[in-house]
Amino acid sequence: MSAGLLILFYLGLSLGPLILAWAQELDPRTPWDELATGLGFLALAIILVEFLLLGRFRLVTGRVGSDVVMRSHQLLARAALVLAVLHPFFYISPRTPAPAWDVTRQSVVDQSWHALWPGIVAWLLLGGLVAMALAKEVSGLRYQHWRLLHGLGAAVIAGFGVLHALRAGRYSADPALAAVWLALLALALGALAYVYLIAPLLRLRRPWRVREVRHEADRTWVLTLTPDFRGRLPYRAGQFAWLNVGKPVVSLDENPFSIASAPSAGPEIEFLIKEQGDSTCRTGQIAPGTRAWLEAPHGHLIIDKHPDAAGIALVAGGVGLAPLMGILRELHATGDQRPTALIYGNRHAGQIAYGPELERLAREHGTELVHVLSEPPPGWTGETGLITPDLLRRHFGPPDRHGWLYVLCGPPPMLTMVEDTLIDMGIPAHRILSEQFVYD
Ligand SMILES: Cc1cc2nc3c(=O)[nH]c(=O)nc-3n(C[C@H](O)[C@H](O)[C@H](O)COP(=O)(O)OP(=O)(O)OC[C@H]3O[C@@H](n4cnc5c(N)ncnc54)[C@H](O)[C@@H]3O)c2cc1C
Repeated sequence: MSAGLLILFYLGLSLGPLILAWAQELDPRTPWDELATGLGFLALAIILVEFLLLGRFRLVTGRVGSDVVMRSHQLLARAALVLAVLHPFFYISPRTPAPAWDVTRQSVVDQSWHALWPGIVAWLLLGGLVAMALAKEVSGLRYQHWRLLHGLGAAVIAGFGVLHALRAGRYSADPALAAVWLALLALALGALAYVYLIAPLLRLRRPWRVREVRHEADRTWVLTLTPDFRGRLPYRAGQFAWLNVGKPVVSLDENPFSIASAPSAGPEIEFLIKEQGDSTCRTGQIAPGTRAWLEAPHGHLIIDKHPDAAGIALVAGGVGLAPLMGILRELHATGDQRPTALIYGNRHAGQIAYGPELERLAREHGTELVHVLSEPPPGWTGETGLITPDLLRRHFGPPDRHGWLYVLCGPPPMLTMVEDTLIDMGIPAHRILSEQFVYD
C-alpha cells in the first residue's frame, strides 16, 4: 500500500463516524450543537485510530518510517485533546430532558449523569495522558513503566469515550454508527493486545541467543545474536529491531536498535549499542548464552528501493553509524560497484566505532571516509568541529553527487541541519532517507 493510500485509509477511519452521522439526515440542531458533536466525534475517532500508530505495524512504518509514525501519533494525540476539551463547551441548546415531541433530541442536550460520567472520565484522563507524555523526561518514571501506564490509560480512555458516545450521542443511537464505534474500539484494543501479548507469544518459536558482547568504543558495545531456530531474520540492511535480552518473551523491557550487520553475511545479527540509560548501561554485563527475543524488521532506511542512485552517501552522528554500517557492509559484501562516502561525526576519537573496519573498507572498496571530531586529539589531520553545511557542501557539492542517495542517522538537530542543507543543494527529498533514534 502506498503512503497516499495509507493517508486515505487513515482519513476514512477517522472521518467515517462523522460521515455516517451526517448521512442520517436527522433534523438539524443549532450550528453550535452540530459543531460540538462533530468535534467530539473527531476527537474520539482520532483517539481510537491512534492505536494503529504505535510504530509497530510494518504496513504503516514500512511506508513512512517509524519516527514519522511516532511523531504523527504525538501530534494527533494533541489535536484529539484540543478537540475533546473544546467539544462540550459548544453546546448551546438547553440541558433539560427532551419534550415528548422531540424523539430525536433536536432541541436539547442530554445531560443525564448516566450519559455524561463516562465522557467526563475520558476527558480528564486524556488531559492527564497527554500531560504525562509531555512530561516523560521529568517524571522520573522508567521508560517501561511510563509505556505501561500510557497504554493502559489510553485503553481506558478509548473504552469510556465510546461508552459516552453510545449513551449521550444523538447520532450514535443509530445501530450502524454504534457498530462502527464498537468496531473501532475492538480494533484499538486488538492492536494493543497484538503488539504487547500476541506478537510476543508468536515469537516463542524464534528464540535467539547472545553469542558475544564486545567493547567497541567509549561506552559503546557490539552485541552479536545467533538464531536458536532453523532460519534467519528476513531483514534488509539499515533496518532495526525491538530487542529484549534476558527477559520473558512477554515483557515491557524491549528497546529499538538498528541492525549493524549485513543480511548477506549470514544469519547472525549484530547491534552497536551506546550506553544511555538503565537497560543500555547493562549491555557490557550481558553473558554469552543469554536468551534474547527480536521483533523485526522495522525501519525504512532501505537503499534497495533506489537502484537508480548513482552512489550512496552516508552521514552518521555517533551511534547513528549502526544502520549505516549495515548498509556499507551489505554494499561491499554484495559487490555493489557504486561509489560510497561516509561522513562520521563524533566528539572524540575514543568514540569512533568500527575504526579499523572502516579504514579497510576505504582501502579495499574506495569508500570516501570522512571522520569529523569536535574534540580532536593533538596531531589530528581529519575534519574538526561539528558536521556543518559548509563541510557537507565541500564533500557532497560536486555535480556528479547530485544523483546519489543520501542516508542519514544521528541526533535530531544534526539530521534537520543535514536535510535542510541537502535540499538547499538541490538534492530531491525522495533521495534523502533519514532516521532518528528518539521518538520524543
Ligand atoms: C529506530 C531506533 C533505532 C535505534 N538504534 C539504536 C542503535 O543502533 N544503537 C543505540 O545505541 N541506540 C539506538 N537507539 C536508541 C535506543 O533505543 C535507546 O538509547 C535505548 O532504548 C535507551 O534505553 P535505556 O533503557 O538504556 O535508557 P532510558 O534512560 O530508559 O531511556 C533514554 C531514552 O531512550 C528512549 N527509550 C528508552 N527506552 C525506549 C524504548 N523502549 N523505546 C523507544 N525509546 C526508548 C527514550 O527517549 C528515553 O527517554 C535507537 C532508537 C530508535 C528509536
